Amino acid sequence: MSEVKKMCPTCNVEMELMKKSYPLGNIHINERYHVDIYECPKCRRVDFFASEEEETVVCPVCGTPHNVHEKCAICAMNKAYGNLAKV
Ligand SMILES: [Zn+2]
Ligand SMILES: [Zn+2]
Repeated sequence: MSEVKKMCPTCNVEMELMKKSYPLGNIHINERYHVDIYECPKCRRVDFFASEEEETVVCPVCGTPHNVHEKCAICAMNKAYGNLAKV
């Protein structure tokens, strides 16, 4: 799979990748939308592109799917607030 270059439509120069797989939205939302953030080095125009790298793993503790590069949000919350789901 070849990398598609993101071009600035105004300057016609290649935009630089500023942030890869940046999670949009609140940390408590399970289904977060990841974007790659590109910035034009000339006019500083910023564009978002849907991240193609959606590597999701299922948490072995609580079974919640989350991004492979991040910690499980549910487990993090359980840790922060104590295990409220305890029987
Ligand atoms: Zn530009
Ligand atoms: Zn978990």
